[in-house]
Amino acid sequence: MIPLIYEMSKAGRRGVRLPDCTVPQTKAKIPAALRRATPAALPEVSELGVVRHFTNLSRLNFSVDTNFYPLGSCTMKYNPKVCETVARFDGFARLHPLLPQLRNGGMLTQGALRVLYETERMLAEVTGMAEMTMQPMAGANGELTGAMIVAAYHRRKGNRKKRFLIPDSAHGTNPATAAIAGFSVTTIPSNAKGVMDLAAFKQALGDDVAGVMLTSPNTLGLFERDVQTVCELVHKVDGLAYYDGANMNAFVGRVRPGDLGFDVVHLNLHKTFATPHGGGGPGAGAVGVKEPLRQFLPISRVIKRDDGTYALHYDEPHSIGYIAPFYGNFGVILRAYTYLRLLGAEGLREASATAVLNANYIKACLKDVFDFPYEGHCMHECVCSASRQEAHGVRALDIAKALLDRGFHAPTIYFPLIVHEALMIEPTETEAKETMDEFIAALREIARLAEEQPATLHAAPVTTPVGRLDEVEAARAMVLRV
Ligand SMILES: *Cc1c(COP(=O)(O)O)cnc(C)c1O
Repeated sequence: MIPLIYEMSKAGRRGVRLPDCTVPQTKAKIPAALRRATPAALPEVSELGVVRHFTNLSRLNFSVDTNFYPLGSCTMKYNPKVCETVARFDGFARLHPLLPQLRNGGMLTQGALRVLYETERMLAEVTGMAEMTMQPMAGANGELTGAMIVAAYHRRKGNRKKRFLIPDSAHGTNPATAAIAGFSVTTIPSNAKGVMDLAAFKQALGDDVAGVMLTSPNTLGLFERDVQTVCELVHKVDGLAYYDGANMNAFVGRVRPGDLGFDVVHLNLHKTFATPHGGGGPGAGAVGVKEPLRQFLPISRVIKRDDGTYALHYDEPHSIGYIAPFYGNFGVILRAYTYLRLLGAEGLREASATAVLNANYIKACLKDVFDFPYEGHCMHECVCSASRQEAHGVRALDIAKALLDRGFHAPTIYFPLIVHEALMIEPTETEAKETMDEFIAALREIARLAEEQPATLHAAPVTTPVGRLDEVEAARAMVLRV
């Protein structure tokens, strides 16, 4: 076990020794009442001690750089390191957002504005939208932007609309977003095939419907076959169709939500477009809209002038206003830009094909030991149920923990909510067949243990730095300080 850095502290030990100060000290200017009476209780450690401490801590981390990370709905893929290199270029990383755009040093920001502009154009092409904004800081923030745009559209037309229709397989952020934007939510059930029930949708549709929010492939990893009909029907009541494209991994370069009839989309640049994520950020939830909704996009807008220069534009009377400070998470946008330029149209098509192939390979190799509740091919992820193992007292949680002992990150579990004992596996396009074969072998071994020695799985994980936690206790009685 690695000690806390405070436990390593020895009185008088130092990391660096600074020479005596040769300029007058300003301590006297700090009012006496604000000055410490006793020195801060900082750990006293050597430089080597600090380096070893943090290096050893970092080795406890699980990451895409170290192991397979099939966390469904998160697209935890290997992202090219060249994207990291570009994001760290001095000319980008050291820019200040308040530098002038054109005259008096504007040359410094023209490149960054061009990156914003061109990323918007490329993603508009990928999604089939007229215009994009790079402002939102996360997928959920993008959803909120989209829902606010839908609200602005109806307000401007004088429409009295108050409901959003959202399928029960949706990510939790969908209904939460609609509610925050002031709408009520009608949940549409999925049918036996795992897609939204069209009859139930038709029944729920009415003049008070502001829009529908759909995810396709949905969180079961299935293609929503009726999307075009759904978009047409919602348009008939002057509602708008919103596409949750957080995981575009199956569609990129193949299907454009704009062509299917959607009016608003959001993408998670930190899932599909090359920013490693996890642990809460950073993210970017790019939002795209069709032509009639352009006027409602958040400010600032990046424009290209006739003379070829770029500028930020604020004079948009119908804009929903600011959705994030400055111009979004620029580093994340820069990684997406690099990734798009690196792969090009052909590369993106190949990536989505491989992502779908990999998920179907895993499904095909596990079909005889795990229950897959929905027939047919999946898209970029597959969802199975541990119901067969549950009969022996082994649950999805036990299987997830047993995978940790075998060097794999667990799949997403207990989501989507409509699958009993769900395990949601997303291999992504970047994994080699050998890696997937090892993962499949581990899951098959766990399935065998579930039948023969179920008790051994209840103890897992036994090889990780921290064993099985009482998760309720961990959430209720948090210990946050020494
Ligand atoms: C991840 C995800 C979101 C939310 O994105 P955040 O960046 O975590 O806010 C929304 N919808 C779907 C389908 C997702 O997978």
